[in-house]
Amino acid sequence: MGIGDRFGFQGNYQLQAFERALAEGIEITPVWNKSNREHILVHTVPEDVRREADEATARRNWQRDYFVDADHINNSNVEKFIGASDFFTLDVADFIGKAVPEKDSTAFVSSFKKYAGQLSVPGIPRPFEISEKTLHEIAGKYLFAIQEAGAIYQTIENKKGSDSFVAEVSMDEVADPQTPIELFFIMGALSMEKVRFSTIAPKFTGRFNKGVDYAGDIKAFAREFEEDILVIDFATKEFDLSPGLKLSVHSGSDKFSIYPEMARIIRKHDKGIHLKTAGTTWLEEVTGLAMAGGEALVLAKGIYARAYERREDLCAPYASVIDIHADRLPGPATVAGWSGEKFANSLRHIPGHPDFNPDLRQLIHVGYKIAAEYGDVYRNAVKSNADLVGKQVYENLFERHMRRIFL
Ligand SMILES: [Zn+2]
Repeated sequence: MGIGDRFGFQGNYQLQAFERALAEGIEITPVWNKSNREHILVHTVPEDVRREADEATARRNWQRDYFVDADHINNSNVEKFIGASDFFTLDVADFIGKAVPEKDSTAFVSSFKKYAGQLSVPGIPRPFEISEKTLHEIAGKYLFAIQEAGAIYQTIENKKGSDSFVAEVSMDEVADPQTPIELFFIMGALSMEKVRFSTIAPKFTGRFNKGVDYAGDIKAFAREFEEDILVIDFATKEFDLSPGLKLSVHSGSDKFSIYPEMARIIRKHDKGIHLKTAGTTWLEEVTGLAMAGGEALVLAKGIYARAYERREDLCAPYASVIDIHADRLPGPATVAGWSGEKFANSLRHIPGHPDFNPDLRQLIHVGYKIAAEYGDVYRNAVKSNADLVGKQVYENLFERHMRRIFL
């Protein structure tokens, strides 16, 4: 389970959720993830995440695996993550659709020609119709991105050696979902590019907005998710992929309406998944500050007011993963009059709660840059209210996420 922590204070409280899951019989591996973009906006470096993970696990005497994820990296920024990270999310979404030399796509097609015709995947009732044209189209769409994954992987392997890190390939931050059969050939080609990946993050059907529920057709998602899991099983055997290869769900936090389907399907097939949360831990910090009242509440309101003023700039980099209705955002003057409880209830993700406001929640989600600008004022407020804030972090992770999917 990927857990973000923008400001690096919550490792201890996050880990308590994993301890609780373990006590209830479910081993979940914590993966502290942070992207290059987050590091730049918060002024941190990958070594900070490593320190947080090492300190939290040492302090709590966590004896199981844990990882530090260089999240959504590419060849232009991987270098600075190499020392501190042992999990790398190779993001090749930007390279989808780029042209490869004709000889490369011809080689791709001839490698996979044996699957042309009717391709049956165990567990999926209807066979897939595969033609050479299908294969050419898949090569045209994905081969460049797959080669790029190979190049990033090589860079890491050359520096770290092959058995010292976990690799994930992500293609999730795009408009169009990959179909299960595309995923099959993508995995085959990744194997040919010598990318030894342990998790793969496709774009699924529907919207996976940051910090809020799934928006889309739940039945269509469930069918695709189950087919992806079956295709991964089949591809693992066909292409000799990593045993235990997992499907990875990005912006996977808060997708409460699809958790029952995910839980049912992974149980049915006895599979694990990688659930990457969307860095929502920082929203729990703001919730805790609001509940603390006094200066902390004033600070929470100040963060919202500034985020509101600068909403266009803050939202721009996240356009494909947020949907904010500006007309449903309360004005800062309105929020200024709120109690801490009203603020916390508006922000906390309890669907159906009369105060819950997903537009406000998404805006604050992308507003962590504002908190970073508050600098020590923000950091000291979180430290002064550590237990109240930490309780929000723990409850969110355990009660609203782990319990619903894994227990
Ligand atoms: Zn992602």
